[in-house]
Amino acid sequence: MAAKMRCVLHDASNNSDDIKPFTNEAWEKVKIAKQYRLSKPFWLTSKYADVCKNLPDDFSLIDGYHSDCYKNFTAVGKITKQNHSETEK
Ligand SMILES: [Zn+2]
Repeated sequence: MAAKMRCVLHDASNNSDDIKPFTNEAWEKVKIAKQYRLSKPFWLTSKYADVCKNLPDDFSLIDGYHSDCYKNFTAVGKITKQNHSETEK
């Protein structure tokens, strides 16, 4: 079996055991969400301040995420719209 994975986007209210490995695509979204969060004046008081501070620059084999944690972390508004204009009509 592979090494035990950890959820790097963890929200303490989530008790799920099902951690998924990152894909490059998922990681890109996390980085964008992190930057968005860091651009907010009050990000330090957010519940994701520690997640942002501890997030590595690149994911490793033991870095993964709970799908719920991922969903919550990347739910920062119009990420895809503002950063990927190629998909707009
Ligand atoms: Zn988690």
